[in-house]
Amino acid sequence: MNDQYDLIIIGGGPGGLTAGLYGARANLKTLVLERYIPGGQLANTELVEDYPGFESILGPDLGAKMEAHARSFGMEVITADVSTIRVDGDDRIVVTDDEEYKVKAVIVATGGSPVFLKVPGEKEFNGKGVSYCAICDGAFFRDQVIAVVGGGDAAVEEASFLTKFGSKVYIIHRRDSFRAQKIIQKRALDNPKLEVIWDTVVDEIVGREKVEKLKLRNIKTEKTRELDVGAIFVFIGFYPNTQILPDGIERDENDYIITDYRMQTAIPGIFAAGDVRQQLARQVTNAVGDGTTAAIAADKYIEELHDKAKAAVAAAS
Ligand code: NAP
Repeated sequence: MNDQYDLIIIGGGPGGLTAGLYGARANLKTLVLERYIPGGQLANTELVEDYPGFESILGPDLGAKMEAHARSFGMEVITADVSTIRVDGDDRIVVTDDEEYKVKAVIVATGGSPVFLKVPGEKEFNGKGVSYCAICDGAFFRDQVIAVVGGGDAAVEEASFLTKFGSKVYIIHRRDSFRAQKIIQKRALDNPKLEVIWDTVVDEIVGREKVEKLKLRNIKTEKTRELDVGAIFVFIGFYPNTQILPDGIERDENDYIITDYRMQTAIPGIFAAGDVRQQLARQVTNAVGDGTTAAIAADKYIEELHDKAKAAVAAAS
């Protein structure tokens, strides 16, 4: 059992790295466990134009800067896949494939993942016209034709939002009715810039350097067609990465972690930050704010545990 750390942060996205910075600056021995490379969704984001202080920065560069900054204060990063967190009295045990870490506080910053279309061209053009975030990327496609895939609240709402930028926005939906709330549907269907292509799926995303067109297929008639677009936004579901959580952590109906104002979950000593947490907006700025609060709260929590332990020793002597 490795007990050399005070604070473990699971996930090295903006929320986790900010928690790492604040944890290390608070003099906690702080470790980030990250499955792939630090940066989280920033690593797959072409340009970021809505992070204060940077009019425009490449996503991977912003992630690398956050990591270097936190490391300069002593935060450590280990590449590891966390399988579970156990609760043992005041100890929180973080279990990876190779090691078990015993700490007093854990911050879960595991983010979330979009559901992918899984069609040819999707991976290849990710960040080059394929996007999963309208707020992040919509402005890159000003005056271009934009396609949105999906029929739920996210797709229909984001399609309305994208009409601010696109010359035309198509929603491509596999059925002949939306599951989105009626009020969201009405707003979209009343918008003259928006057109729905019903009963249709995307078979392929085609382009050279970036997305140029979609190969579509009507699933009732099997008729195929091509649609010229500058971008395709996929909103066919998003799920928080909560598989590693122990029982007893409260979550909402979509599985997002519910925290209090300190970012503490229903289990003391386990905090959450970023996209894995229930919140209105899933932006880098939100994750950074969550990471700050979570690390400050974790520091206070650890201090209180120490005080409690000291008081118990004093009372016993
Ligand atoms: P969702 O409600 O699960 O809808 C996913 C949509 O994608 C469905 O229309 C589904 O089609 C379609 N889809 C799924 N897999 C597909 C595939 N492989 N190919 C093509 N289409 C596919 O997901 P969501 O819109 O992300 O919303 C998730 C949750 O967040 C919901 O509870 C939603 O209410 C909530 N949310 C709320 C708001 C709001 O209140 N303003 C905004 C965003 C999200 P079918 O309909 O045919 O199954």
